[in-house]
Amino acid sequence: MAKPLGTTIGSMPITSHPTTEHVKAGTATHCPYCALQCGMIVAADEADGVVRNVSITPRRDIPANAGGLCQKGWTAGELLTNGERLTTPLVDGRPATWEEALDHAASRIAAIRAEHGPDAVAVFGGGGLTNEKAYLLGKFARVAVGTSQIDYNGRFCMSSAAAASIRAFGMDRGMPFPITDLAEADAVLIAGGNMAETMPPFIRHLTLMRERGGSLIVADPRRTPTAAAADLHLQITPGTDLALALGLLHLAIAEGYVDDDYIAARTTGFDAVRTSVSAWWPERVERITGVPVALMRETVRLLGTARRAMVLTGRGVEQHAKGTDTVTAFINLALALGLPGTEGSGYACITGQGNGQGGREHGQKADQLPGYRRIDDPAARAHVASVWGVDPAALPGPGRSAYELLDALGTRDGPRALLLFGSNPLVSAPHVGRVIDRLASLDLLVVCDIVLSETAAAADVVLPTTQWAEETGTMTNLEGRVLLRRRSVAAPSGVRSDLAVLSGLAARLGHPRGFPDDPEEVFEELRRASAGGPADYSGITYERIAEEGGVFWPCPSEDHPGTPRPFLDRFATPDGRARFTPVAHRPPAEDIDEDYPLYLTTGRVLAQYQSGAQTRRIAPLTEAAPEAFVELHPDLAERIGVADGERLQVISRRGSASGVARLNSTIRADTVFMPFHYAAEGRANLLTNTALDPISRMPEFKVCAVRLEKAA
Ligand code: SF4
Repeated sequence: MAKPLGTTIGSMPITSHPTTEHVKAGTATHCPYCALQCGMIVAADEADGVVRNVSITPRRDIPANAGGLCQKGWTAGELLTNGERLTTPLVDGRPATWEEALDHAASRIAAIRAEHGPDAVAVFGGGGLTNEKAYLLGKFARVAVGTSQIDYNGRFCMSSAAAASIRAFGMDRGMPFPITDLAEADAVLIAGGNMAETMPPFIRHLTLMRERGGSLIVADPRRTPTAAAADLHLQITPGTDLALALGLLHLAIAEGYVDDDYIAARTTGFDAVRTSVSAWWPERVERITGVPVALMRETVRLLGTARRAMVLTGRGVEQHAKGTDTVTAFINLALALGLPGTEGSGYACITGQGNGQGGREHGQKADQLPGYRRIDDPAARAHVASVWGVDPAALPGPGRSAYELLDALGTRDGPRALLLFGSNPLVSAPHVGRVIDRLASLDLLVVCDIVLSETAAAADVVLPTTQWAEETGTMTNLEGRVLLRRRSVAAPSGVRSDLAVLSGLAARLGHPRGFPDDPEEVFEELRRASAGGPADYSGITYERIAEEGGVFWPCPSEDHPGTPRPFLDRFATPDGRARFTPVAHRPPAEDIDEDYPLYLTTGRVLAQYQSGAQTRRIAPLTEAAPEAFVELHPDLAERIGVADGERLQVISRRGSASGVARLNSTIRADTVFMPFHYAAEGRANLLTNTALDPISRMPEFKVCAVRLEKAA
């Protein structure tokens, strides 16, 4: 059992397992959605164990949001009282008891494993799962099932930035400085990020920066609300971000902004990069990217003359078949200007999913063990195996990456069963038409979810689980700060936690011990398993998080203060120096042509989140953003004879999706945009390309070739 934490926020008592009195007063916790993990107080009216009303108040003591919430956060209480909540397990579409459902799932898994081997059973996780769940899921796959076939939907989000950070810095902590450093910067370049819509309280830090006289530069094919608020908008052709970064570095070198002392003292490999960008003169880059030379020159001047400057990347530059190289090119620019590892400056990836950072650290990735260890590292295998009490030789090796795993389901050599937690790939995976077929070919699909998502509706076994405010666990926000999300309200009768599901399945698969369902007990084991790894949580406790408002990893002992800025003295490479890597621009995996003459780019809207499984069930959010749309330029609309509000068909080589036309004169005339949150024929991912980055295995969500037709 978790212990009461005994901390206060103002005069408010806080416990990890609140009493009814505390629930009435409100419990300090965090938002269910994005990686900003805004702090909030959740208070509920409960009668007879049923939650009637939930009120949400933003917390001021959490620096990331400092009293702010977006529309999704304010309305998150509706998730707890929503009538569409699943409360009964389903087997083949019919209600079942928990014992029946778990027995059925476990016996089918055991039979498939016995007939086809352990890799015939696959496990798929999510970047919204708590650290405890992500950790236990990885252990469940490798120990209870014995499969190498585990990956998660975070592969679709931050994996290219993670790969580039490891390549350059030896370690991936998305934002290696506190978010409050942004306000002190003099210039910030955001490449492919739209925080004004995806995480609005983030904008406060940029507003403070600009009020001090700092400059904001945004590179984005669309004039998003973030781009519209910037001092400079570099409106690039989709898929050309890498060329832009090469051109900016070329200019920085040519115009004398390079920090030679920093390069000599803290990096390796600059000469090769300097040579590689010499051919990227500004006029050539303008021709490829569409960004005027004058804007590139001003960008470099602002970054190069700033006392403190930052380069940030988001999914816009990362979700490409060359995403790792694109992020590397922006890191090269930041390194040449002397930014990373310098107090007040730096490079950061803006992580998107709620636990996108922690979810990629503790073992639900195909190639990884807890503590951000590599699964092919003998020392890492020995350490984790000793914590798990198994022979290192018994641990499987690396498995398939997320899309490759989904693509292999039901094929001759692919998995025959899939257990899925915290993900909805029938909306969120690329080329979703193919994924529908693959899931349909499985012998067994088990889905844990809080609602009947599109993927749950296709499952043989559906297990109804608890959600954010009904359970306790840790989340690691976009800064690398480990936070405590506390249980704040009673769970509805009939649901169990994901940890309890894993515990129940593991016991039925012959592992009655080693899979506890208490989150703090799991976290204590995670601490030991992560000890000595890059993402070392061994000094972090629930009590410390509560008392200190969060702890930055790495934190190797309980008397260690945590590490807000891990690169100040040295980078996490063997020689302590950051590594420049030369990279080359190339066009999108699928460029436009006569048959498909337009670029499609996809992204988010303010009032929806990820696959929309949660937010499409919240009335104020569906009123604000009810359906899929296709944003296009009025000139393009006139050419195809479509008016604002009319229905459009968008067609790619992989499928067809539809949405209402939304005319916008600020989008490029060769580009259309669709949000990816919607189901049925509004699924943007019916269109997207599965071309994968060779290093991160990230699919190319952000650009493919399409044509438009007026819907019949
Ligand atoms: Fe929640 Fe993100 Fe909105 Fe904050 S910005 S309230 S964490 S969805």
